[in-house]
Amino acid sequence: MEKIVILTGAGISAESGLGTFRDEGGLWAQHRIEDVATPEGFARNPALVYNFYNARRAQAREAIPNAAHGALAQLERDFQGEVLIITQNVDCLHEAAGSRNVLHMHGFLEGALCAACNHRWEAPLVMKGADQCPRCLQTATRPDIVWFGEMPYYMEEIWDHLRSADVFAAIGTSGNVYPAAAFVQDADRAGAHTVELNLEPSAVVSDFAEVRAGKASETVPVWVEELLKGR
Ligand SMILES: [Zn+2]
Repeated sequence: MEKIVILTGAGISAESGLGTFRDEGGLWAQHRIEDVATPEGFARNPALVYNFYNARRAQAREAIPNAAHGALAQLERDFQGEVLIITQNVDCLHEAAGSRNVLHMHGFLEGALCAACNHRWEAPLVMKGADQCPRCLQTATRPDIVWFGEMPYYMEEIWDHLRSADVFAAIGTSGNVYPAAAFVQDADRAGAHTVELNLEPSAVVSDFAEVRAGKASETVPVWVEELLKGR
């Protein structure tokens, strides 16, 4: 059984209208990363951080998966092997498209996390400081998002998957954020065929055996079709 491991980043969600901190305009442009995406920023001004993620959650719920998300869901459905998506994105567009085997290494907007007892539950549309943890009843709720300076989720599991991958693809990732930027090297060492699908070459493009340039909504469906035809 062949195994395909796919890393997805902001580039795939951008085509569904969800911007990142690198984009001009949009939600991020009104804030500094240090204020809304670090534990220190949250400690300084929790209300600002709740509002920021409440706005992003509302925006993400309005977003619609694009052809790239759809193609990856089809790959998981139809491929005679294992398909795993590791995503850096905090939206749920892969799931909305029908993908089931998805690891959110940076957490997700639909999650709430108790900083006191680590309990996780489904975030309400509007999170606020007075929210109580349903398990320990403390008011230590925070978005279930991995902020800068925090350890991404599922790392041991992810390294295991990379070591057993036959194909590793990175789609719409900048290659600037570690540890994800080093996944290609882990997969390559394990003997996987590596392919980058990106609008612009990533910072680690030279680590890939194959590069496909273009919009994810155009390159991913073509790539998936080739995989399903066994080419
Ligand atoms: Zn708790």
